[in-house]
Amino acid sequence: MIGVGTTPVTVRAAAKVNLHLGVGAPREDGFHPLTTVYQAVGLCDDVTAHPADDLTLTLTTTDWIDAGAVPVDGDNLVHRAAVLLGRHHGRELTGRVEVEKAIPVAGGLAGGSADGAAALVALDRLHDLRTTDDALLAIAAELGSDVPFALVGGTALGTGRGELVEPVSDVGTWWWVIVPSRQGLSTPEVYRHFDRLRPDAPETPPGADVLLGALRTGQPVSLARALHNDLQEPAVDLRPELGLLIDRGESEGALRGIVSGSGPTVVFLCESADHARDLAGALMRTGQEVVLVANGAVAGAHLVPSHV
Ligand code: ATP
Repeated sequence: MIGVGTTPVTVRAAAKVNLHLGVGAPREDGFHPLTTVYQAVGLCDDVTAHPADDLTLTLTTTDWIDAGAVPVDGDNLVHRAAVLLGRHHGRELTGRVEVEKAIPVAGGLAGGSADGAAALVALDRLHDLRTTDDALLAIAAELGSDVPFALVGGTALGTGRGELVEPVSDVGTWWWVIVPSRQGLSTPEVYRHFDRLRPDAPETPPGADVLLGALRTGQPVSLARALHNDLQEPAVDLRPELGLLIDRGESEGALRGIVSGSGPTVVFLCESADHARDLAGALMRTGQEVVLVANGAVAGAHLVPSHV
């Protein structure tokens, strides 16, 4: 019988921003085809799996995160990750899993996906399952479109519904100011609104060549010009204050502001770490409650020394 490790395992997984998000007309299965470029940024959740006789989940968050919006039952992506990984190995996986959340919920930053990816890695290690990378990626794709990227990290091209990921060349260090909203925005709702606004959306989503070229320059000004998000229009239409926030950040000196994924988080690209800190300060002085600074690209889900 395969044993359970005796020491807890902590895995850290990062939030993503979409540098390019091209969306096509919905496919027959209801999913929208995407061409996207993901970047993992240094805003992370930690998932710790402790040895236990059954599977339980606890959640701790910083005070500005809406913990009430996170299911702690079988719908949690951590729980679903445990079930799918267990099924792959023909057994039930146990563990007392603690999620320490710093990634805003329903923010367009793929926080749930990060937790799912981290749980896959943590439970694999806790139970010494030695799941192959290909199998982990396949299970991740079943869990959710953004979960494979959360495993891979860095900067990557995503196709299909976003689940087919391929690392791309990225020579820069990019500095972001991240402004979450207190209230999340439902991803399906934003896609439904996209369908209403864009009944003529092409079958093939807009490609990412311009963005990929800008990444290769390493120049923030070039990247700023190339940022593209087809979900920005529906997100801003649903939440007009996001458009005002983008304008405010750009008038305070951001190279460019853009909605992250399906929103409502807005991210601002800056010239440097100092520039990001200055912009964050300026946005806080305008009354913005939570303003974060992070750089990218950072690693995908990875082990860190356990601290809980
Ligand atoms: P994406 O950008 O991938 O669409 P998101 O960042 O907008 O995702 P998430 O934070 O991943 O949104 O949460 C989306 C929904 O997933 C939440 O409203 C919640 O109901 C559910 N969920 C399940 N597991 C988790 C988890 N571990 N953390 C956060 N949300 C979770």
